[in-house]
This record gives sequence, C-alpha cells and structure tokens, in this order.
Amino acid sequence: MSDDCIFCSIVDGEIPARIVHETDDVVAFLDANPLARGHTLVIPKTHAQHVGDLDDDLAAALFAAVTELTPHVQSTVGADGANVGINDGEAAGQEVPHAHVHIIPRFEGDGGAP
Ligand code: 5GP
Ligand code: ZN
Repeated sequence: MSDDCIFCSIVDGEIPARIVHETDDVVAFLDANPLARGHTLVIPKTHAQHVGDLDDDLAAALFAAVTELTPHVQSTVGADGANVGINDGEAAGQEVPHAHVHIIPRFEGDGGAP
C-alpha cells in the first residue's frame, strides 16, 4: 500500500471499481476512461511503479492473469483482437504510478492502434 495511490485504494476497496477478476496477487478492473469497450487494467496488489520492480512470482502472477483474461475480455465484448501493453514510466505515458497492464479490445476497422 502506498499513500495517495489510486490503484492501491482500489485494491483496498476505498475507491470503487468494476472488478472483473481477482486473485491473492492481482486484481483486474475496467478502466474508468476506456479507449474501447471492455478496456481492462490488470494490476499487482502490491504497490510498485515499474514492472521491473516486481519480484519474479508477482510478475508471473500478473502475466498469468493477463494471458487468462485477454481472450475472456475479447469474447465478452465481441472484439477481433486486443492491444495488450504497459506504459512504464512517465516518459512512456504512465499516469498512474502503480504498475498495470492494459487490455484494450480491438475491432476490425476501428482505425488502428490508440
Ligand atoms: P497509464 O497512462 O498510467 O498507463 O494509464 C492509467 C489508466 O488508468 C488510464 O487509462 C485511466 O483511464 C485509468 N484510471 C485512472 N484513474 C482511475 C480510477 O480511479 N479508476 C479506474 N477504473 N481507472 C482509472
Ligand atoms: Zn499503488
């Protein structure tokens, strides 16, 4: 838990979120400002800004959740594909300093990568 971290507050239930998946290690919830229908964020429950700060077990749990959820998110919204990615660091566009993976459903003809 890090004070003033929005995603830690979601983990702790202090800020509401549309949670779609949860384990002991990770939680996934719908993005509040989705780039596409079903845009989902997958985060470790432990606070760390960078994916490189995660220990191996937590990194593995995060990736396992992403691989499990990606096809599920796609089928739920009828998507044809998905962008799965991480903005790591402010220079890369990371706005929330708690590591997270975006799953952004994509639809044929939707105009290219966001
Ligand atoms: P970043 O640019 O850090 O990779 O992406 C942060 C994402 O978190 C953005 O897509 C933004 O819409 C989402 N986000 C920011 N604050 C909240 C929040 O309080 N709740 C939810 N569900 N998503 C949030
Ligand atoms: Zn945090």
